[in-house]
Amino acid sequence: MNIDRMQTPELLSLNKFNVDEEEPHIVLDKEICARCEDKPCLVVCSAGLYKLDKSGGISFDYAGCLECGTCRIMCKDKGIVKWVYPRGTFGVSFRHG
Ligand code: SF4
Repeated sequence: MNIDRMQTPELLSLNKFNVDEEEPHIVLDKEICARCEDKPCLVVCSAGLYKLDKSGGISFDYAGCLECGTCRIMCKDKGIVKWVYPRGTFGVSFRHG
């Protein structure tokens, strides 16, 4: 495997995730997100986890989160009502080949 020639989706697929199904580490208030005009989360998430749903609201799944914290910083309307690191043993394990 030559990681110098790999594209971003391939590199991200090397990571391992142990998803905490009982306690999400990021929680949104979808009513706030629906009212947010700029929706910066759609463009700043390095894992592309924020999507626009059919009604113009935000669809989000924390399962592939890279724990970078960018969405927390950029969420100016405070639609992210909880952002913490995952509990011990959960979350991303970075693998660089
Ligand atoms: S912490 Fe980073 S990877 Fe995780 S959802 Fe926010 S922007 Fe995306």
